[in-house]
Formats: sequence, C-alpha cells, structure tokens
Amino acid sequence: MSETMIEISDLTRNYGPTKALDGIGFQVQRGEVMGFLGPNGAGKTTAMRILAGILAPTEGSVHVAGLDMIANPVAARSKIGFLPESPPIYDEMTVREYLTYLAALRQVPKAKVRSAVEHTMERCGLKHTADRLLRNLSKGYRQRAGIAQAIVHSPEVVILDEPTVGLDPIQIREIRQLIRELGGEHSVLLSTHILPEVRVTCNRVAVINQGRIVANDTLEGLEQKASGTGAFFMRWRHPPELSVLQQVPGVARVGEKSGGWTITPVPGQDPIPELVQRSSSQGWDLRELLPAGESLEEIFLNLTTREEEAESLSSGPSKEV
Ligand code: ATP
Repeated sequence: MSETMIEISDLTRNYGPTKALDGIGFQVQRGEVMGFLGPNGAGKTTAMRILAGILAPTEGSVHVAGLDMIANPVAARSKIGFLPESPPIYDEMTVREYLTYLAALRQVPKAKVRSAVEHTMERCGLKHTADRLLRNLSKGYRQRAGIAQAIVHSPEVVILDEPTVGLDPIQIREIRQLIRELGGEHSVLLSTHILPEVRVTCNRVAVINQGRIVANDTLEGLEQKASGTGAFFMRWRHPPELSVLQQVPGVARVGEKSGGWTITPVPGQDPIPELVQRSSSQGWDLRELLPAGESLEEIFLNLTTREEEAESLSSGPSKEV
C-alpha cells in the first residue's frame, strides 16, 4: 500500500511583488523518486527550501511523513535530508569527520554514529576517501559528500536541488545511479532542469512553470497524454511561411522538426483536409503526412514555454533542456 511521505498543498510564496509559487500542490509516496522539473526561475528552489523547513511559505501547508512542517517544524525537519544547490561543506574536515559531526548534529544516537557514518560512506562510494580533506576532493566526490550528509541520519525523505550541476559526464552518471539507489529506501524529490536526468532517475515528474504545477504524472503518462493531442507531421517540397500555416483554421500550434512541421490541431478540429487542399492549390507540393508522437523534450517545451520560445529552444544548440 502506498504511503504519502511528502504532501504539499496550496503553497504560495511571495518575494515582495514576485509570486515565486502560486498555489502549488503535489504528493510523493514512500519509495518514489519524484522529478521536480522546470526552467530557470520556475520556483523549484523556493519550493524545496520551504519543504526543507528553511523558508516559510506565504500560504499553504507542507507535511513530511505525516508531520506538519509549520506546526511541528523540529520533528518534521528530522525526517528530511537536504542537499541544497551549494551544500554546506567544511573544507578543513575529512570526509569521516564531516559525516560524524553532522550525524551527531542530526541526533543520531551516540552509539550508532560510527556505524551510520561507515554505512553512508559505503553507500555513497566514499570509503576510499574517508580520511581525505573535503578541500582536496574532486567536484564529483564533493557532491557525493553533499548527498552523504543528506542521508547520514537515515531520513525518510531526501531533497536534492540540482545535484548534478557542474559535474562531468562520468560523475553525472555515477550520481544519477546513486540517486536511483536512494529511491526504495527513501522518498526522493529531485529538482532539475535536465530532462535526461528525469528519464534515468525518476518514477514520476511534477513540472513547474512560473510558480504553478503544469503537469504531474509518470513519464509514460505524460507521453501518452501528448500522443492524444492528434499532432501530425507534414513536409512539403515548397513549404509555406510558418505564419501561413499558423493561420489555417483548426491549427493550434506549429513546430519545426526534421525539415518539416509538427502541427497540433485545436481540440476537436481536423485541419488536415484544408492543409492537403492548400498544398495542391498553392503549389506547396506535399511529400509527407504522418502521425507525430511527441518526445519528452517537446512535451516539456509545450508545458513550459510560449510558442515562439519553444521554436527557438527546439532549434537551438542545447539538447539538454
Ligand atoms: P533556478 O533553476 O534558476 O535555480 P528556480 O526554479 O529554482 O530557478 P527560484 O530560485 O525558486 O526558481 O525562483 C523563483 C522566482 O522567485 C524567480 O523569479 C526568482 O527571481 C524569484 N526569487 C527567488 N528568490 C528570491 C529572493 N530572495 N528575492 C526576490 N525574488 C526571489
């Protein structure tokens, strides 16, 4: 039976006139790795800091393992391990000293501190660096130490804010593997703006944009919903201007793809007969007409950008959005 470990309801946070969060809500079940995905400035860090109990919401509620973060913050915080964007690392300590210090700080019983530290180093692949100063670790190993400090007290909930930013591809692969392993024993909320990270580490994803949750589903669910839009792909030898396509009755959205266009119809309408007719009467010379399944990247762009932005992003150089 599933057990709700994180429950966020109607959460709002204002910074002066800026509404960083606008009534968001979602749940994470025991053992789940939930991706928290959104473009820069969407509100991810704000939500995670509230969830970690270090920032107060303007309105709304947060429960961790059934404990109310606002009414009972000390008990609720003890159920959480948090890796912020810039983890608190004490350069002059060794890995073992650092984890021992934090285990004691997080109320691990004295008799259990040693085994907790050894077990955590084992899980995070830090055993062979136990006696090295944190200052001398590579970026990837510093990040492992950051994750280790988040789990040394065996919290039920682990919150990771952009854990792979700035790492090289090998380090990224190792950290993602470690995150996958954390799911099962802990419930993990992982914020990122990197789609492949969600694909390889998460069971579910909540997409946030401009302070609002715009999707909350499994990856398969998101992909299924997108394929239900009736989008199709058309390619012509003499294609019309984008603005011409956008004005055809029944066309909701047009995106460039592989030398042709992906066209999403207005729900309930079918612009294909009109497009085929114009292809012939205007001399566009139709070459291909196929159903178009949307990739996760396209789904994300559609959820988080306006049409013009999606256009420039999807044809831009960066593949990792
Ligand atoms: P990123 O991926 O760039 O870190 P994010 O999704 O984590 O972005 P937040 O850092 O939560 O987004 O910011 C959400 C919004 O709130 C942004 O518009 C940001 O400029 C604003 N904001 C965040 N912190 C503050 C602050 N201390 N004062 C004023 N505005 C803030």
